[in-house]
Formats: sequence, C-alpha cells, structure tokens
Amino acid sequence: MNDHLVRILSNDGSLRAVAAVTSGLTRTICRLQGTDPTASVALGRLVAGTALLGALLKGNQRLALMIEGNGPLQRLHSETDAYGQLRGSVKNPLAALPPKADRFDVAGAVGKAGFLHVIKDLGMKEPYRGMVQLYTSEIAEDLAYYLTTSEQIPSTVGLGVTLDENFAIATAGGFLVQAMPGGDESLIPLLEERLQQLPPATSLLSEGKTPLQILEQLFAGIPFSVQMETPLEFRCNCSRPQVAAMLRGLGADEVRAMIEEDQGAEVTCEFCKQSYAFTAEELAALPQLKS
Ligand code: ZN
Repeated sequence: MNDHLVRILSNDGSLRAVAAVTSGLTRTICRLQGTDPTASVALGRLVAGTALLGALLKGNQRLALMIEGNGPLQRLHSETDAYGQLRGSVKNPLAALPPKADRFDVAGAVGKAGFLHVIKDLGMKEPYRGMVQLYTSEIAEDLAYYLTTSEQIPSTVGLGVTLDENFAIATAGGFLVQAMPGGDESLIPLLEERLQQLPPATSLLSEGKTPLQILEQLFAGIPFSVQMETPLEFRCNCSRPQVAAMLRGLGADEVRAMIEEDQGAEVTCEFCKQSYAFTAEELAALPQLKS
C-alpha cells in the first residue's frame, strides 16, 4: 500500500478524523537517520503524528513538531507541508535501551521530562508556536494532550510503528479524531465506544488496513464523507541557496575561523544528509566579510 492519508468529516459536521499510512517514507527517514529499533519506533510515531496534523494544513502552510526530552534521543524533529511531503530527524539516533515488558521503551528513549513544540508556518509574518510539557512521552498521548489543552479541540490520537525481522520499519501510521468546536456532542458517546473497541494502531496497520478502512471501523454507525485523500512521501526541501543564506547569517569571526581552520565549510542537512561544500573563496565572498 502506498503511503497516503484520508480525512473525513461526519455528516453533521461535529467530528473530524484523519488516518494515515506512513510505512515507506518512515523506512526511508529511519534509514537516513541510522536509528536503532527504539529510536525508529519513537521517530516513526512522531512522523506519523506530523502526517496526521499536516492533513489540517492548507496551501503553502507548513508544520513542524519537535520533541525535546531528557532521554537519550535528546531531540526529535519532523516536518510536513499541505502536499504530504515529510521529513524527520533525531539528534541521537541510538537510544540503546532494552525493551520493557516486550515493548520498545519509547518513553524512556524520549525522556519523561521535556517539551513538545508545535511550529506552524501559516503564511503570517511570524510562525505560530505552541508548547506543552511531555505528558506520557509515548508521543500519541502527548499530541492529543497538546491538541486538547493548547488548541482546545478535544482529540484522540493513535499511532503505531512495527519493525520487521531486520529492525527496519514494517508498518507505520495512525489516526486522529477531533470533536469540532461548537459541534453537536450527541455522537461522542458512540465514538468513545468505538475507540474503546478499536484495536491498537499497530494491530490495524499490521493487518494491512487502509486509512479509509480504519476510519470506517472507527465511524461505524456514524455517517461521514471523505474530504481529502493525499499521497504522502519523504521529501527534503533543503537547497544550496538555503544553506548559503544560513552561512550569510553567521558572524564574521565564525566564517573567518572556517576559512582559516578548515579552508572551507561542509554543511550536512540533518534531514536528508545531503552535504553542501563551500570553498574558502566562496566563504570569503560572503557579505559579512566585506566591510
Ligand atoms: Zn535535506
């Protein structure tokens, strides 16, 4: 199944839901990052959550989720746009933690104390920035906690990542359900019952359920229509001009040190690992060295 997401709305407008399969793009991201099994599951969950929230973006809007915790992974970062192009990175890809009760210890790898940052570029002058303390550090609950408290939209998030026998990503994805503000609340008890009956996201994905099938199971008895279906893929939007702009923002002393000590600069993109080399001559031509 190709990576994609489906967004639906109940016919009475009171409930919105998104489901996504992100297996292929997550496999690529984890391979590029060199993650160990626990780090793969943690990063895979954050990337799936980013895909789900990305389904609510429009036009040229962008969204980034960043988790900074006191666990070995230190910082996880994932981004998307409204066109389903995702990228992700992790500061330390090796959690080096044993499984806990047959489960990957994601909360231990992320760390119990820390923050979830949500940065939305909505095309305004300044990006929107939201932040909550980590709630369980299992990521799905942290996202639901952020949406419910910070954005004040009651939300449930289920995320699932499974690995194959070589510890590469086998399946990844999840679902998000939201009670729309001001909507009729009469369907909520039925939805809560469905959520309780629903198998965990890992089981649904392992069974090969499509996003639409997951939503049909969740919304059984609740009439809905499909609002959007978007293919998802790994895509990094880094470029040489972007790196050059970053170099123009450095202090003159920092650039002089690069010229003298390294005879140039090599900048590696944290997401796709593409490296951009700049010669000493190119660095010497930067505007901050001309005064
Ligand atoms: Zn890149």
